[in-house]
Amino acid sequence: MSCVLKPEYALIDGVLRPDVVVSVDRSGMITDVEFGADTRTMRPIDPFATDTHRVIPKVQRLRGKVLLPGFVNTHSHAFQRLLRGRTEFRAAGHDQDDFWSWRRAMYRAANAVSPDDLETVSAFAFVEMLRAGFTHVGEFHYLHHQPGGARYDDPIELTTRVLAAAQRAGIGISLLRVAYQRAGFGKSFVREQLRFVDTDLDEYARALEATEAYARPDDRCPARVGVAAHSVRALDREWLTGLAELAGERPIHAHVSEQPLEVEECLFEHGMRPVELLSDVGLLSERFTAIHATHVDAQEVSLLGGARANACICPTTEQNLGDGLPNLAALVAAGVPLSIGTDSHAHIDPFAELRGLEHGERLRTRSRNVLARGDGHRNGVAGALIEAGTRGGARALGLLAGEIATGQRADLITLDLNDPAVAAVSEGENGLHALLAAIALGGGAHLVKDVWVGGQHVVSDGIHVRWETAVRDYAEAAAQIWG
Ligand code: ZN
Repeated sequence: MSCVLKPEYALIDGVLRPDVVVSVDRSGMITDVEFGADTRTMRPIDPFATDTHRVIPKVQRLRGKVLLPGFVNTHSHAFQRLLRGRTEFRAAGHDQDDFWSWRRAMYRAANAVSPDDLETVSAFAFVEMLRAGFTHVGEFHYLHHQPGGARYDDPIELTTRVLAAAQRAGIGISLLRVAYQRAGFGKSFVREQLRFVDTDLDEYARALEATEAYARPDDRCPARVGVAAHSVRALDREWLTGLAELAGERPIHAHVSEQPLEVEECLFEHGMRPVELLSDVGLLSERFTAIHATHVDAQEVSLLGGARANACICPTTEQNLGDGLPNLAALVAAGVPLSIGTDSHAHIDPFAELRGLEHGERLRTRSRNVLARGDGHRNGVAGALIEAGTRGGARALGLLAGEIATGQRADLITLDLNDPAVAAVSEGENGLHALLAAIALGGGAHLVKDVWVGGQHVVSDGIHVRWETAVRDYAEAAAQIWG
């Protein structure tokens, strides 16, 4: 259905503007953005309507609401929503918990889900993402086989379940099919990893092709397919080289240097650091996204910048897992576009990820406004953060989205201007700049009132159309899985 939206303010080119009218056609694309338009005379273009049956959509006046492009969740493992709240204690006898002890709990969840469970849990995570203002997810999907490694009759059974979950929830998805070959250099598999492992690159390539044949993108709720190299831990040089060739024009993502141990092992095995290895095997390009990039050094930063590669930071997960703080100032200075992901789903809230970028940098450098362009623009920090959450994610996944502009997909959200977090912030001089900063640095998922994905209104007045079913089904699955 086509529609015309008239919010109080809309974010256009990084600036909040009043008197904006946005038209969306039936294929879910933005066909027009007008300023100061008189909506009574508007005639939205509708390619499906003939002159005799012209549909003139009613203008939806979004009073007390600000319209933003939807956020892109560039890095997700949907099934990990099951782990929320389950790993926040120290087991008796443990002096210290860290990423590796968390990973044991994750492996347990990863091996407990049936295909039905995976669809249910993923759908619930996607519904939560939509309610929080994410309109597209990059799903870094590494569950491929039965527990223990036996193949399903349909080799892409679990992939199709994740895609079905996205369709059910109404979120746009890029399915990044993960290659996982080994437990680590010189290490044998533990049983729990066998669910992730393909025998060889041929098996991987067949699964990728089958996924693409299944996904059949359409404009409204597109399922896109990309390549994911799990990490330099889980893939040897031959696999990494093969994946670089196989990826072609597709987006390709990899976990990069989340933990110092990965860097040490890479130096031991290859005599070079992870990003140097990725560059050496031909993986770096503008289609490449380094997930985390927590422990990369100056030389690696310049390799990423030189290749015009992207970096996806997952601040709430990195905080939760105690990973460390990446040097974002260096990445930005090298020209690496940033994006955000909720990764382990300890928290699903784009605003928490955005302020995590800037606040992490403030704590790391003991200074302020680190990510702001140094041009004195009052939108400096907020503009950079919101760009990471929208255009940065769209770039990392190769999407025509992330902006309110003609020809972009109508992935849109509204925020409530009467919410206490932002109420009356916009009064006085530079009020709209202050409002955008308050949204980026002090906002939260609770601000989100409406969400459109490809023009489909899936969240209205803060309620997702399938919330009741999604939470009921999830509760049943979680009760069974956790016993
Ligand atoms: Zn991850």
